[in-house]
Parts: sequence; C-alpha cells; structure tokens
Amino acid sequence: MKLCDLFGQGRTIFSCEVFPPKKTAPVDSIYRTLDGLKDIRPDFISVTFGAGGSQGDKTTRDIASLIQNQYHIPAMAHLTCVAAGREDVDRLLDQLEADGVENILALRGDVRPDVPSKTDFRYASELAAHIRARGGFGVSAACYPEGHLESPDLVSDIRHLKEKVDAGAQHLVSQLFFDNEDFFRFLERARIAGIDVPIEAGIMPVLSKSSIQRMVSMCGASLPARLTRILARYGDHPEALREAGIAYAIDQISDLIAGGVDGIHLYTMNDPEVAKQIAGSIASIRTV
Ligand code: FAD
Repeated sequence: MKLCDLFGQGRTIFSCEVFPPKKTAPVDSIYRTLDGLKDIRPDFISVTFGAGGSQGDKTTRDIASLIQNQYHIPAMAHLTCVAAGREDVDRLLDQLEADGVENILALRGDVRPDVPSKTDFRYASELAAHIRARGGFGVSAACYPEGHLESPDLVSDIRHLKEKVDAGAQHLVSQLFFDNEDFFRFLERARIAGIDVPIEAGIMPVLSKSSIQRMVSMCGASLPARLTRILARYGDHPEALREAGIAYAIDQISDLIAGGVDGIHLYTMNDPEVAKQIAGSIASIRTV
C-alpha cells in the first residue's frame, strides 16, 4: 500500500519512526522495539537511514523488510542523497521492491564535514523525482514547521518544499517541534503555496534533558516557555521529566488532532513503552 492512500478517510493517521540499533546495542533490541509497537498497530513504521546506509548489524533495508513481512505493518524506508549515489539508490530500490517494501522517505541528509557525501542527487527533490520516474514506490519527504536550518527565510523554504512536492513527493512528514502554533502557521503557508499533499506532524516526547538538548541543537527547534519550565523543574529528575515529557507530548497531539492534522508521526527513539502510553491516550480522539 502506498502511504498517500491511507489519508482522507476520516481518521488521523498515526505512524512511528524507529532507527537501526547502534553497533553497541544488543542484536535483538530491534525485535523488542517492534514487538512493542506491533501492539499499538501504527498505520506505518518508518526506518531511518544513517551515513553509509547502516548504523549497525541491522540495516534500514533489513528492518523495513522485517516490519513489512513479519509484522505485517506497512514500512517506509528512509533514503538520503548524501549517503547514496545513483547506483546505490537503484540497487536499494530493487532490493526493497523484492522485499515488498513500497514506500520511501526521500531525503537529502545532513552534510557532515567529516563524512564524504555522494553527489548524484543534490536535493531531496531530485531523489524524489528519480524514484517517481522509476515507479513502484510511494514517495514521501520531510518538511520543517520552523523552516530548515539552512534556509535563508521561510518563503524560500516553502518554495523549495513546493518544488519537492511537484517533483513527486506525495506525503510530507514534519521535523519535530514543540509549539503547535509553529505547525499551524506552517500548514497555512504550505496550503497557500498550493502544497496539497497530506502533512504529518512529527512529535518527539521529551524524555531526557541531554537528548532534547542534542536534538534542539541539531535541528534548531525552539522551546516554548511551558517546556522550558518543565526542563528547569524536572531536568535533574529523570522519572519526573519522563512523565512530564509524555504528558506534554499527549497534550500537543490532542491539540493537533483537534486542529484537524492529517497525521501524527511519533519519533519513538526505539522506546515502545512511551509509544504505547501515548497511543493509548489518544486512541479515541484519533477516530472522532
Ligand atoms: P532538502 O529538501 O533537499 O532541503 C535541504 C535544504 O536545501 C533546505 O534548506 C531547502 O530549503 C534547500 N533547498 C531545497 N531545494 C533547493 C534548491 N533547488 N535550491 C536551493 N536550495 C534548495 N537524516 C538522515 O541522515 N537520515 C534519516 O533517516 C533522516 N530522517 C529524517 C526524517 C524526517 C521526518 C526529517 C524531518 C528529517 C530527517 N533527516 C534524516 C534529516 C534530514 O536529512 C536533514 O534535515 C537535511 O538537512 C535536509 O533534508 P531534506 O530532505 O529536508 O532536504
């Protein structure tokens, strides 16, 4: 099933993101993650793509195939221009097609000075166009409620997003954000620009002070005062911060659904318990 066909059926789509376990993680840790996520039946699960296409023994392709064939949940494999040249892309697409994986999140990836980048595809829009021209896959892409860090302004950010959709992206997944007003304003800009594909809101629960500081410095998401207060009060109390972070995410999601968002994409950080708690709390509001 192509993911764009999931939308427009009167309920809010709920999807999850996992990453291939690090080399230092136990080999079976991804099974623990997926066993937990299976219970909440997300509409699809996406798998990130690290530099070189692998973050350990289990690669993006292996995990996407596992999700699709053993867990019988639609899988979306991420793929980046910086880590994959034309030949890598074509080989991976052939393999994923043979595995029955039908959806790709076409990304540029982050250019890192210490890692040489592939240069066949410069922007995600070029990768999206290449995959659509090949055929056989639903193509999704990333979007940025607060603008991409490298964008000089929000106007050019939306202009390039529209180019990406025109090039073939059929569904968008947003970068994490903590202030829903940022997302609603972005949605308005996107719709005015004629971007009419489904847009899922990316939500990352705040579970630890260090992880949130790392994410914010990487993607530039701003912290609203309400979240800053939570970090200040519970930052040194891991259990309390986890509870408050999950409550904040549930509140954010409820408000987004009330505002008519197409879907929620949960950055699970491979923690199925958090995903279960959040999915359980929004089960009935998703279907109204
Ligand atoms: P693009 O859409 O190519 O945009 C990159 C920048 O170039 C933007 O500033 C854009 O405005 C600008 N731009 C686009 N087209 C043009 C043009 N024609 N001329 C000039 N400027 C242009 N990274 C990973 O490495 N692996 C992952 O699995 C991964 N998963 C992600 C999942 C989601 C949902 C999101 C939001 C991000 C993910 N990332 C991942 C991070 C992502 O790769 C980075 O944010 C990257 O910096 C931009 O990728 P993009 O696909 O949005 O790039």
